[in-house]
Amino acid sequence: MSPKLILNAILLLAGVFSASSSLAADAVKEEIVVYSARKEELIKPIFDQFTKETGIAVKFLSDDAPKLIARLESEGVASPADLLITVDVANLTIAKDKGLFAPVKSTVLEKNVPAIYRDKDSQWFALSKRVRAIFYNKEKVKPEDLSTYEDLASARWKGEILTRSSAHPYNQSLLANIVAVHGAKNAQKWADGFVANLARKPQGGDSDQLKAVAAGEAKLAIANSYYYGRMMTSDLPEDKLVAQKVGIFFPNQKAGKGDLTGAHVNISGGGILKTSKNVKNAQKLLEFLSGDHAQNIYAAANKEFPVNPLVKADAVLAAWGPFKNEGTNLSVWATHSKDATRIADKAGWK
Ligand code: FE
Repeated sequence: MSPKLILNAILLLAGVFSASSSLAADAVKEEIVVYSARKEELIKPIFDQFTKETGIAVKFLSDDAPKLIARLESEGVASPADLLITVDVANLTIAKDKGLFAPVKSTVLEKNVPAIYRDKDSQWFALSKRVRAIFYNKEKVKPEDLSTYEDLASARWKGEILTRSSAHPYNQSLLANIVAVHGAKNAQKWADGFVANLARKPQGGDSDQLKAVAAGEAKLAIANSYYYGRMMTSDLPEDKLVAQKVGIFFPNQKAGKGDLTGAHVNISGGGILKTSKNVKNAQKLLEFLSGDHAQNIYAAANKEFPVNPLVKADAVLAAWGPFKNEGTNLSVWATHSKDATRIADKAGWK
């Protein structure tokens, strides 16, 4: 048995892989392996559809991004994986910087994924978008009181803002975006002011910030849009109540000169791995994921926005109204993530 087959066998024995809908054995022509930091329930229906349409089976391993990236590094050329799918440009950039991706030349991906949402060297492509929005307690704040991310550093919000740790990629990416637009020195000033306004030491995830705003612990929170979308459509009455008490605000729609030119948008995305032995089929899946049909399911399942401009957003999201995205190429601001970490540390943003 070759080392790859042995490794495959070990992984299969460990029971860590899931597979797309099992076709009759003779119907499966080929198989690709995806390492996915997305939850199984989000991606399995789309992989099943891909298998149905192409006869290519998809075997996938779900874990969080740092673990998958570490695994790919340790597996090296023996890795069975063809594709990495994950969230946040910070993770995609780490994978790229570690030399894990191979560039992809695809007119389909170039058509389906706007240039600002794909790597400038074509190593990764966005598959969905999420807005890092401002959320407010409807009883205490009117949307007219809100304007920009920059304004969140002003003293009038002292003790009134909630967010998770700065170590999380979502906040790192937001801060990297601010560095890209304002430069490191001004970004530091912003971070100092922002941290001075925090209502409590960062704790929990984005949903926890929304719950705390609904409970009146602070007036504002920064969180990703899909957490709110999921609460709006949740079966749990307590989630629905949070969503009723909290409003979503897209910042920087009428930003001042030099400010971010729209709402900070992050992505989920994927790329083909350098060690893939099935590049053609891996590319087929990536193209499929960016196409109309998969975009509808993939984005709506997690209340995210489609990245393909020809695909309509889920009705719940569309009801939030149109908004303008910040226009910096994600590749560009991702290069500022080290600055972002340094600035957050210096500001005392835990
Ligand atoms: Fe998330």
